Amino acid sequence: MITKIALDVPLAEGTEPFRSVDPTQNHVNTMDLGITRGDGIFEGLGVNHGTVQSLEPHLARLVRSAKMMDLPELDIDVIRDALVYAAKVHPPAPLLMQKLVITRGIEGGDTLTAFVQTWEGGNSPTEVSQGIRLVALDRGFRHDVAETSPWLLQGAKTLSYAVNKSVLREAARRGADDVLFVSSDGYALEGPSASLIARFGDTFLTPRTDQGILAGTTQHATFELLKEKGFTVGEELITMDKLATADNLWYVSAGRFFNPISHLDDRELVIDWEFTTPIHEMLLARTR
Ligand code: PLP
Repeated sequence: MITKIALDVPLAEGTEPFRSVDPTQNHVNTMDLGITRGDGIFEGLGVNHGTVQSLEPHLARLVRSAKMMDLPELDIDVIRDALVYAAKVHPPAPLLMQKLVITRGIEGGDTLTAFVQTWEGGNSPTEVSQGIRLVALDRGFRHDVAETSPWLLQGAKTLSYAVNKSVLREAARRGADDVLFVSSDGYALEGPSASLIARFGDTFLTPRTDQGILAGTTQHATFELLKEKGFTVGEELITMDKLATADNLWYVSAGRFFNPISHLDDRELVIDWEFTTPIHEMLLARTR
């Protein structure tokens, strides 16, 4: 079952900030720039037993994406309330997924379009049971693209995810499940919907987020957990040569949590199940 909440942004005087709508009906105008141009932003969130996980980091990332897109200032209090309300009114399930979408609205208009959709979801069983087969694909931008060409919006969570989907079809053609984006100058970046974590002994590294990649909320939560367990964590520029020396690799994202990587291109990687399974479960059970 899917439930849907529509938000009015910005708020017209005297109107309710958001309302439940029938998810089987159409609510978005065909002239909406989110549809015609992919001109908008989104967040994908996990809800664990009714609690929206990493809510504040998601909201902070939303604000960053909105700024990069020159969208008007968002009423974050209303958006937060809508997400919490949407999680509450959905029939309960151990794990729900939510998608918050905000578009520039109808061409020529001055109102944004916004809605939250909630559905029952979670991990893909094959990924957890066998690990992910990754192929490395060139993203075509240097690692410093965010600095040299901010107008390319690398690192904003925009609705323009056609490339993030096309790379999955390329992965499937190569017999893989998912993709590792690599900068044109050889740095490991991220997946089309996940952040990369690499283990080197007692140190866990993730690619630096100033390389035009998303600051992952799950990566942040994982590093908090690993720090509590006494491990060293850090953000670095990680060349593909360095990545090849990692003990283990994982993909992390909201709703999919801590997923081991079994292959990078043709190379089989070691999966440490004794380490992976409890960390995965601890992340899944987070109530923040
Ligand atoms: N990188 C990209 C490109 C993503 O789309 C996502 C999430 O969808 C992530 C990383 C992981 O972010 P999070 O852990 O906040 O889900």
